[in-house]
Order: sequence, then C-alpha cells, then structure tokens
Amino acid sequence: MSKVNPYFAKEMKKLGGTEFNACFNCGTCTATCTLAEKDNAFPRKLIRYSILGLEDDIKSSIEPWLCYYCGDCSDSCPRQADPGNIVMAVRRFLITSYDWTRISGLLFRSLAAYIVAFSLLLLGIIGAYTADIFTKEEWVHYGHYFEMIAIGSVFLVILLPNIIRMWYFTVARKKVKFNIKVYFRELKTLFIHMFSQKRALECDDSKENRTWWLEHLLLVIGYLSLLFTTVFLNWFATGSIFIIVMGYIFSAMIFVVTFDFMMKKFRKKTQRSTTLHYSDWFFIIWLFLMGVSAFAVRLFIDLDLLQNNFWLYLFHLTVLVQWALIIVPFGKWTHFLYRSFAMYFSAILEAPENARK
Ligand code: SF4
Ligand code: SF4
Repeated sequence: MSKVNPYFAKEMKKLGGTEFNACFNCGTCTATCTLAEKDNAFPRKLIRYSILGLEDDIKSSIEPWLCYYCGDCSDSCPRQADPGNIVMAVRRFLITSYDWTRISGLLFRSLAAYIVAFSLLLLGIIGAYTADIFTKEEWVHYGHYFEMIAIGSVFLVILLPNIIRMWYFTVARKKVKFNIKVYFRELKTLFIHMFSQKRALECDDSKENRTWWLEHLLLVIGYLSLLFTTVFLNWFATGSIFIIVMGYIFSAMIFVVTFDFMMKKFRKKTQRSTTLHYSDWFFIIWLFLMGVSAFAVRLFIDLDLLQNNFWLYLFHLTVLVQWALIIVPFGKWTHFLYRSFAMYFSAILEAPENARK
C-alpha cells in the first residue's frame, strides 16, 4: 500500500512546483511528450501521483530523470498546469529523498540556507587568508590537494550512498531478479548516456533542441576534461605547453557555453529558460565563474601577474570550494549523475533476464 502524504502539494511548492491541482487529467501532455512510452502515461501519471500525494510511487519512479525539459507538454497543457515544471520539481524532491544527509532538502527549500552555506565558506577562506597560515605558493599547492580530496570524499561519503539509495527506491523495491551479468552488461548504457546525453535528441528535432544538446555536450566534455587537467595534470603548476593550452581550451569551453545559457535564460528565449529555481541559477553561474576564474588564474600565472593579484586565486578557490562542497553533493549538479544512473537502472529493469517476479 502506497503511503499518502497530505502535505505533498505544499512540499512541491517549496521545491519550485507550480499549481498542479489545475490538472484535469486530460492526458494531452502524455500525447505530446515524445519520450513517453506506449505503456507509460508520462508525465500525466506523475502529476496524478503528485496530486494524490503518493510519495512512495514518486520515489520509485525513474521517469522524471528521463525528461529533458523541452517544455512541449507545458505548451500544450489546456489548464496551464505547466507539467514540465512539475517534473523538474519532482526531480528536486527525488534528490532530497536520495540524499541521506538531508542537506539537499534544506538547500532546495530555502534560499537563505544556500546563502548562509556559501557565506560560511567565503568567510572561512577570508579568515584563513588573513590569519596568514600559508604562503601564496602553499595556497595554490593546498588548493590543488583540496580539489583531489574533495572529489574523492564527496563521491565516497555523499554521492555513492545516495546512488545506492536511488537504486534501492527504483530497482530493489520492485523486487526484480538480481542478475550480475545484466548489471555489468548495461554499464555501457550508463557511460554512453553520461557522456553523450543522446536521449535529449529524441525530445524534438528542432534546431533549438539540437543546439541545446550540442552545447550541453561541449559543457560536459569541457567540465570533465578541465577537472582531469587541473586535478591529475596539475594545470596551475605544470610547465607543459600542451597541458597549458588544453586547460585554456577546456576552461573557455565552460565559460563560453555557460555564458550563452545565461543569456538565453535572461531573455527567457526557450521553455527551458522560463521557470527556473534559484538552484538552477546557482548551478549555471558557478559553473561560469569556475571556467572564467580558472582561465584567468592560469593567464595571470603565464603573465607573471598572480603574485601581485593574489585576490584572483582566492576568488577562484572560493568558487571552487562552494562548488565542490555545496553544488556538487547537494545541488543541481547531482542531476548529471542521477540522470545517467536512471538510464542505467531503466536498462536493468527492462532487461529480459530481469523479468518481474
Ligand atoms: S498537466 Fe495539463 S495536459 Fe497534462 S493531464 Fe493535466 S491538464 Fe492535461
Ligand atoms: S518537458 Fe518535454 S520531455 Fe519532459 S515531460 Fe514535458 S514533453 Fe516530455
């Protein structure tokens, strides 16, 4: 028996959801959505679950992660219930449900909590700098180690347990047969979708959607490559021209694409830009700041200007620390991970060997 949460509508509002009670269950959104499958009335079913407060059914749904927010369903809804935006709010609810620390829930429901968390990290860096604990060289050196340690520990302590919880809600609870061969075989689905996000192309074949997909792809490649270049190739300290140029290219890819995303969002040019939660803005702005500040720091190193303009490195480090400790483990960044795992779990559930009992 599915648990009913009578306060679910309130919960969804706090997470950026719109007035879904306007929905009269006509099914136009499902007919419009190109990602809806024959036997799955998505997103209508999800909106029904939300209206009824069927929290457990929502937690066990993989479908919200398969939506790319093209907005066609919202455009076609005769009741202006904005189903596309409801799916986005459901995803925030899912992120808060997977997160064992509950910090995501706090941050998604309260802008003030976000600002306090960012401010505390900023004050920590300002405090450590004014206390004169490290020399400037040591700041850059330890900044590099921070990146390595943060990536490893955030993944092991926060993200990995959350992925396991996601697996428990979406796969294990459905009591499908466990077949290790299927888990290994479908790893290809995980990596293909993680890097290509190719399902987004199935949304619609408009030029706008193809441009969005290409920009998204460049962003993923730029972000992962810059991460590799700074963490494993020590970009800020290397003398290799090849690595230096690669770092410039990857950081430029990030800030050029994110700048374009921001402009589109400001102009509200696409449905993807019309209803945005503050966590979406933090994600895109911090990604832009990371790319642009990393580019500028390396440029100042190459022009021998960093020693006299050390504020630039401290700015970059602050953005990096806020990104790594807030946005990656608890914010919008997690959608990159959960969406890829949703494709993986979905392939596992649909595998012939895993026929339901
Ligand atoms: S969200 Fe809109 S289109 Fe979808 S079922 Fe409800 S009223 Fe119909
Ligand atoms: S936003 Fe697009 S992909 Fe998502 S449910 Fe609506 S029509 Fe489907």
